[in-house]
Amino acid sequence: MSEPRARIVIIGGGPGGYEAALVAAQLGAQVTVVDRDGLGGACVLTDCVPSKTLIATSGMMAALDEAPALGICPPGTGSGTTLATVDAPRLYARVRALARAQSEDVTARLAAEGIEVVSGSGRLADGTRERVGPHTVEAGDVLLSADVVLVSTGARPRLLPGAEPDGERILTFRQLYDLPELPPELIVVGSGVTGAEFAGAYQALGSQVTLVSSRDRVLPQEDADAATVVEEVFRRRGMTVLSRSRAASAKRDGDGVAVALEDGRTVRGSHCLLAVGMVPNTGGLGLEEAGIVLDSRGFIPVDRVSRTHVQGVYAAGDCTGVQMLASVAAMQGRIAMWHALGEAVQPLNLSHVAATVFTEPEVAMVGVTQQAVTAGQTEAVVGKLPLATNARAKMQGIRDGFVKLFASPHSGRVLGGVIVAPRASELILGVSLAVEQNLSVAQIAHTFAVYPSLSGSITEAARRLMQPEYH
Ligand SMILES: Cc1cc2nc3c(=O)[nH]c(=O)nc-3n(C[C@H](O)[C@H](O)[C@H](O)COP(=O)(O)OP(=O)(O)OC[C@H]3O[C@@H](n4cnc5c(N)ncnc54)[C@H](O)[C@@H]3O)c2cc1C
Repeated sequence: MSEPRARIVIIGGGPGGYEAALVAAQLGAQVTVVDRDGLGGACVLTDCVPSKTLIATSGMMAALDEAPALGICPPGTGSGTTLATVDAPRLYARVRALARAQSEDVTARLAAEGIEVVSGSGRLADGTRERVGPHTVEAGDVLLSADVVLVSTGARPRLLPGAEPDGERILTFRQLYDLPELPPELIVVGSGVTGAEFAGAYQALGSQVTLVSSRDRVLPQEDADAATVVEEVFRRRGMTVLSRSRAASAKRDGDGVAVALEDGRTVRGSHCLLAVGMVPNTGGLGLEEAGIVLDSRGFIPVDRVSRTHVQGVYAAGDCTGVQMLASVAAMQGRIAMWHALGEAVQPLNLSHVAATVFTEPEVAMVGVTQQAVTAGQTEAVVGKLPLATNARAKMQGIRDGFVKLFASPHSGRVLGGVIVAPRASELILGVSLAVEQNLSVAQIAHTFAVYPSLSGSITEAARRLMQPEYH
C-alpha cells in the first residue's frame, strides 16, 4: 500500500512560496498555494521584476549619454547631446505587461505540476474552532488542513509618518508605473539599494533627481569603495545628492511636493519617491495565536532550515527578514520543503549569497565584505584593480569601476569579491564559483579569460594576490 501524500499549504505565492511549491510537488506532496495578489508575488508584480525592467531602459539611456564619446551623434548635428527621449506611457506599459506575463508563466508552471492555487487571503486557522489549529489554513470560506504550512507572505514598503503617499505626487515605488509621465523633478527619499537604484534610473531616463540621504554616503550598507564610485557617477550625471539630510515630512505643494528636512531646509520637486525600507506582512495571519513569537520588528524568526518555533510551520522570504532578496526567499522555501519532506538538506548559508545593486555601473558582491576585513572579523588580503586599466573597458568608454578580491593570506582561498562595472551582476558568477568551490587565487589566475574582456580583470586581480607581498 502506498504512503499517503504529505499535504503542504503555502500562504503567499512569491519566490519563497512558489519555488517551495515546485519542490514539494516534485517530491510527490499534495500542494496548495494561497495567494492574495497574483503568483510571482510582489517580486514579479510590483518590486524586483518591474524595477529591473525599468532599469533595462534607463541603462540604455545611460549608454546613449556616453555614445558621443564613442563617435555616435544624432543625424545632422556632428556633435551629440541628447540622442533620445523616453516615452513614459510606453515604458510603463512595457513594465506592467512584462510583470503580468512573468506572473502568468509562474501560474502556468504551477498548474503544470498539479499544484492547486486558491486566490484570497490566507491565515492560520483560529484554534478555537473545532478540529483546527496551526495545521489548518483558512482562506475565506475554505479550510485547508495540512501536515506542513509554509508562510511566505513577503513585505511592503515602510511609510514615513508625515509623508503619506497619495499615488500622484508622493509615491512608493509600487505606484511609479501608473504615472502618466516621467517625474520632471524627482526627490528620492532614502539612499539604500532601492533608493539608489531608482534615483540612478530616473536621472538616466531624463528626470532631474535629488537624492535625500540621511547618511554620509549613498548605499551606506554596501562596500564603501563601491558606494563612492556610484555617488561620484550620480553627481557627474547631474544628480543632487544631499548627504546627512534626514527627511521629516513630504507634503503636496501646489503642483508639486515639498520635502522638509529635519535641519529645517525644504527641498521642492514635482514628485517624491519614498524608499525607506520594508516592513513584513505578518499581521492578521494568526501567527501569534499559533504560538509564533514575532521579533521586535514583526519578522518571523526562523532557523537555517526555515523552521519557526511551532512544529510543522515553516517560513521563507521577506517575512522572515533574513536577507531580502528573491534568490534567498526561493532558497529558504526550497530548503523548508526538502527538510519537511525528509530530504537531505544543507542549511542556508548566507555567506555565499551573490547580490547586486542595479545602479549604472552595477555593484555586485559575494562572500566576505570589506567591512568585516577592516573590522578584523575576517583575516583576508585584498586585491583591487580599477577597470580603467582594462583594455576592453577603454574600448567601451567605461571609466568607472573596479574588481576587488578577498583571499585568505594563508591558503590563498578566495573568500569574496566586489565588482563595480556595467553588468557586474553577470561578471560576479566567476567569483561566486570560486567562493562556493573553495578555489584559490592561483586557480583563478591560471584560468583563461578572453582578451579583451572585463572578466580579464578578475583573473588579473587574482594574479596580483599571488604576489609575495600579499602573504
Ligand atoms: C524595488 C525592489 C527591487 C528589488 N529588486 C531585487 C532584485 O533585483 N533581486 C533580488 O533578488 N531581490 C530584489 N528585491 C527583493 C525581492 O523582491 C524580495 O526579496 C522577494 O519579493 C521576496 O519574496 P517573497 O516570496 O518573500 O515575497 P513576495 O514576493 O512579497 O510575495 C509574497 C506574496 O504573498 C502574498 N500574501 C501576503 N499576505 C498574504 C496572505 N495573508 N494570504 C495570501 N497571500 C498573501 C502577497 O500578495 C505576495 O503575492 C527587490 C525588492 C524591491 C522592493
